[in-house]
Amino acid sequence: MTPSDEDEFRPREQLRAQLLARIASEGAMPVSTFMAEALFDPMAGYYATKDPLGADKDFITAPEISQMFGEFIGLWAAECWGQMGAPHPVQLAELGPGTGRMMSDALRAGAAAPGFVEAAQLSLVEASPALKMVQGQTLATAPVQPRWVRQIDDIAQGPSLIVSNEFLDCLPIRQAVKMGGVWRERLVGLSPDDATQFAFVLGGALSDADLALVAPALRDEPDGALVELRPADAPVVEAIAERFKAAPGYALFVDYGSSTSEPGDTLQAIAKHEKVDPLKEPGGADLTAWVDFQTFAELAHGAGLDVYGPVGQGDFLKGLGIETRAAALARGRSDAVADTIERQLNRLVAQDDMGDLFKVIAFASAGLPAPPGLDRYTPI
Ligand code: SAH
Repeated sequence: MTPSDEDEFRPREQLRAQLLARIASEGAMPVSTFMAEALFDPMAGYYATKDPLGADKDFITAPEISQMFGEFIGLWAAECWGQMGAPHPVQLAELGPGTGRMMSDALRAGAAAPGFVEAAQLSLVEASPALKMVQGQTLATAPVQPRWVRQIDDIAQGPSLIVSNEFLDCLPIRQAVKMGGVWRERLVGLSPDDATQFAFVLGGALSDADLALVAPALRDEPDGALVELRPADAPVVEAIAERFKAAPGYALFVDYGSSTSEPGDTLQAIAKHEKVDPLKEPGGADLTAWVDFQTFAELAHGAGLDVYGPVGQGDFLKGLGIETRAAALARGRSDAVADTIERQLNRLVAQDDMGDLFKVIAFASAGLPAPPGLDRYTPI
């Protein structure tokens, strides 16, 4: 173990001990509480304390795979800005910016639209002190300097463009299992064999308020079915709906998940690019769950937003011209560089890689033109 591993390990042991003690005294906790502590405990939380993103780290995301991803997000935003009538200023915001790479590439590409970058005031919605530092470094020479805010409501008022990649998947989820015709919450408790280990246990029946969080399409699933509740999605949608009623705006979410509500356990933990047991080491692995794009779209639709997508990331990027961009980047370069660009392109768009699993959905103020690359959502 290197000294830095040890430095990270000790707070994690404390977090583990705290969570075990809390369960011993208060009883088993919702998966969402475990997830929030594992990701954002100030001393040991996975995101709160480190930068996990990159080929040599724990996992890799689209903007870290290729500069082209952020470039197309920037071109998309600049185009939407034009469709809004090129307001000056415009609030450009990113939710969960990770290393800041996507925004850095987006601003470079967005500069191709005359006046866009000059009009943009940049807000980064970020919960992690460690990642804020990294974002500040990545964007140190960017044409617009960021301001960090804690939530969507803190972005300055006015017309806005909100973008995000892999933000929704780390919002804490809850789980429920149907038994004897009743939905009961699946909680994190102590293992009956070893009180130093976490284990899933079944809690009481869901309240009526909680049942409302179960996707309507899944409420009649048979006994044994497991469903996920995403209590953090509605506040995101509501904050955007409120903004977009007051002033024009477009919001884009890229994330992994299914286009229609599906039952099943999607909670997963990743460390060093491998799947690990989600309960094994809180703070030591990324904990995420699939987005339910049907429910997310319905929430937005119900809140009065115009909804576009979801569409696969591959089709979205190809529709915007990523293949032409890849060919331009490879032109005149060595075979090795051209091969790398081709491989990166494939990772982003291939059906058996990120192209299909990752989806793109957008919201807009009612009545604005359709954003590039996306068709109007049709309620299922
Ligand atoms: N978008 C980046 C990073 C994805 S990881 C990329 O694609 O590479 C998830 C990001 O969301 C991290 O920056 C994490 O700290 C942030 N995050 C997670 N939950 C958050 C919350 N509730 N509020 C603000 N930021 C959050």
